[in-house]
Amino acid sequence: MSGSHAAHSGKSEPAATAQGKPSEAVMGTYARQDVVFARGEGSWLYTTSGDKYLDFGSGVAVNALGHAHPRLVAALTEQAQKLWHTSNLYRVEGQEALAGQLTELTFAERIFFCNSGAEACEGAIKVARRYQYVSGHPERWRIITFRGAFHGRTLATLAAGGNDKYLEGFGPEADGFDHVTFGDHEGLETAIGPETAAIMVEPIQGEGGIRSIPKQCLIGLRELCDKHGLLLVFDEVQTGVGRTGKLFAHEWAGITPDVMAIAKGLGGGFPVGAVLATAEAAKGMTPGTHGSTFGGNPLAMSVAREVIAIVSEPEFLDAVQARALRLKQGLARLKDLYPDLVEDLRGEGLLTGLKLKARVQPAQVVKAATAEKLLLVGAGDNTVRVMPPLNVTDADLAEGVERLSRALAHVSKSLS
Ligand SMILES: *Cc1c(COP(=O)(O)O)cnc(C)c1O
Repeated sequence: MSGSHAAHSGKSEPAATAQGKPSEAVMGTYARQDVVFARGEGSWLYTTSGDKYLDFGSGVAVNALGHAHPRLVAALTEQAQKLWHTSNLYRVEGQEALAGQLTELTFAERIFFCNSGAEACEGAIKVARRYQYVSGHPERWRIITFRGAFHGRTLATLAAGGNDKYLEGFGPEADGFDHVTFGDHEGLETAIGPETAAIMVEPIQGEGGIRSIPKQCLIGLRELCDKHGLLLVFDEVQTGVGRTGKLFAHEWAGITPDVMAIAKGLGGGFPVGAVLATAEAAKGMTPGTHGSTFGGNPLAMSVAREVIAIVSEPEFLDAVQARALRLKQGLARLKDLYPDLVEDLRGEGLLTGLKLKARVQPAQVVKAATAEKLLLVGAGDNTVRVMPPLNVTDADLAEGVERLSRALAHVSKSLS
């Protein structure tokens, strides 16, 4: 049917598009690599032309349990046969179940479900402003954020991130965000004013180049917020759901936020995000204050419930930490082998990065890795991200390090 339709309309057949030149019909907002995947299994992706790639990008920290995990496939297909969507005009069983899991496992007492990281950050911003509003401080609506941060691509989250490159050409920057230089403690204190509602921060900057906030500083942020009556908002869209070896990265510092945005790994590849909050922080979120047509859709809930059930097991997180240690040892060896290219190792758990020397660009390393059939992801601050699925096998981990070694050897040779 689709073939004859294509013939009638005079357009090329879908199969030809997948193998041939990239279609211009897809808006050109991405600098995509010219490879098309047809299928995935575990840490591996298979192209339409039969090649096999080791996926150490995990769809930008999304495929937490690799590709086609049997338990996730079962959860999704089982739900698909029962019910897809009812809207939020009615109670949704999966939302109540997943909210129950998340409140059991975290600081949170109230959860709002959405579909992406940017939406989760927007929701977190709204929760923070609304909290101050209903607490008798309508004047407190500004949010302090950090340079190099990434909170998404909506107009408010772009303003929160404050990256000029992403803001250019999209009209006046949304007001309400005060940017502080990463690590500038004094600047942070002086940025707090009578209009400040909250501080929003990634415990480890992901897109910004795997830049970790030291434990002591996270504790300091908590104290600062308490002192000034501000909400502490963590953006754990990338660091959450086991990526750092704890269910959430802030657990390493032994403190909790008031509000947290999560997404990426939560659905293991199915689009879903969430805003987590204490009951106090969420007290302003009454009927009509926020909403999303698709948010908390039964399909998304069924997969996310299974992801959380698997990842939150203590044995699973212990295993992530053990794998992380092996990966770190492998990357440390590469740093020793290629001191001309690698300046530093960064990250926590399986959210790791190679900070590169100024003479080499992340794109060069990503390209050389792709040639070795290893997928990596570039990041800011001249960093390449190495983020295998959380359940990567030891053999695949070792294979990935070997492929990365060959890629670095190639880049090193091309520069000398
Ligand atoms: C990816 C990311 C976002 C945006 O998520 P989308 O799903 O792309 O909207 C926000 N914050 C952080 C920390 C991220 O890594």
